[in-house]
Amino acid sequence: MKTSLPQVKQRSCGDCSACCTVLAVPGVDKGRYVPCQHLRQGNKCCGIYESRPEECNAYSCGWKVGIGTSAHRPDRFGVVFSIENTAFGPTLIGLETRPGRGESPEVVQFARSIVRGKDVALIMGGKDWRRVTNVPPGKERIVAEYVKSLSNPTQAKE
Ligand code: SF4
Ligand code: SF4
Repeated sequence: MKTSLPQVKQRSCGDCSACCTVLAVPGVDKGRYVPCQHLRQGNKCCGIYESRPEECNAYSCGWKVGIGTSAHRPDRFGVVFSIENTAFGPTLIGLETRPGRGESPEVVQFARSIVRGKDVALIMGGKDWRRVTNVPPGKERIVAEYVKSLSNPTQAKE
């Protein structure tokens, strides 16, 4: 199976700041699903942009590197997708930005279309839930352990 996911563009975030709430950022002592204390201007920009932690500087969500159309920008679509190289290989992680959005048929269908035909696990989640699909054969246990670790509030960016 193919393993590659699209990573071709480097889009501008524009008014989106979804990852600044959804993701854990230990560098600013921020847990998952907590708005960063440094968000400014209606949560649309970073108040410490020039000195933000390297983990913020290095992060690009899946949309930013080319997944989906303009309608899939996380603040519009309601899900932040990230492509991660985990212990069980390339993984697409989708975290909803609005409660319940991650379970909507539109989002589930879109997420599955990204990993279909590829050896890529899919983890979908929200503030209080996780669901895993497309797990590579034989990797079920390590995937389950990884998902459990995501509940750790000190977990680094996902
Ligand atoms: S979620 Fe993606 S598009 Fe939105 S601010 Fe973060 S990196 Fe930029
Ligand atoms: S420090 Fe800035 S870029 Fe990093 S999470 Fe906070 S607001 Fe976002």
